[in-house]
Amino acid sequence: MSSHKTIARIIDSPQPHWVGDGFLVRPLFADLAFQREISPFLMLDYAAPAMFRPSDTPPGVGPHPHKGFETVTIVYDGEVEHRDSTGAIGCIGPGDVQWMTAGSGLVHEEFHSRAAAKRGGIVSMSQLWVNLPKRDKSATPHYQDIRKAQIPEVPVGGGVVRVIAGEFAGQRGPASTFTPVQVWDVRLKAGDRTTLTLNEGDTALLPVLAGKVKINGEREVAASRLVVFSHAGATIEVEALEDAVLLMLGGEPIDEPVVAYGPFVMNSQDEIRQAMADYRAGKMGAL
Ligand code: MN
Repeated sequence: MSSHKTIARIIDSPQPHWVGDGFLVRPLFADLAFQREISPFLMLDYAAPAMFRPSDTPPGVGPHPHKGFETVTIVYDGEVEHRDSTGAIGCIGPGDVQWMTAGSGLVHEEFHSRAAAKRGGIVSMSQLWVNLPKRDKSATPHYQDIRKAQIPEVPVGGGVVRVIAGEFAGQRGPASTFTPVQVWDVRLKAGDRTTLTLNEGDTALLPVLAGKVKINGEREVAASRLVVFSHAGATIEVEALEDAVLLMLGGEPIDEPVVAYGPFVMNSQDEIRQAMADYRAGKMGAL
């Protein structure tokens, strides 16, 4: 039997802020964002369910660049439409995931879909940033459009673990990743208990998006908090004290410097300066 990952710390998230006019998000990694301690993960924004009035002008965030990492957008409610400088256009709805490799650099925009904005309604989503190792920071920009039906669902009591990346209970997630990463969308009903098994030595983060859980039979954790686990050990016991929505994130640390500046994440200041120059020179394309 493998040993528990122990709780290293529990972090409160700052208040929500707007990203463009479309997403009121909580930055759930707080001060740990972009720190080596949570490698390969960089940042997580969570937009809790919010009601939007019908509008002919879809809310969202206009053209901006990314380079050197991946963005993983999980939609819970509503529809998010993406357009980028490679010419790609995609729209994802409830349960769908867009796993975008910014790699060598692109420019994109993220809006509520035109149709969903016209209807109005509830929108909720997460966006996780996953770092790329130095050898893959120049990967060709592309994205994986992952539909709800492609994501294995492992029943847990009255709840479910949706395996987006990595493997849980013998089910393998559809996302292709550059380094070993687990991303599981965990939804539990009050009273459900499960053991999540990650890899010995890997980073493990458990943001609580909604509800309340008890971890390893010892600590109660409420919504908008992040549980950071030890790298040592492999298993995590989760019991839902209320209906709960969580993200289980595991990953092999990338043992390289992280230098982040806005939408660019590189290994050195020189590379950041180069990325800014490349963007200004139009080398990441335009919409
Ligand atoms: Mn973006």
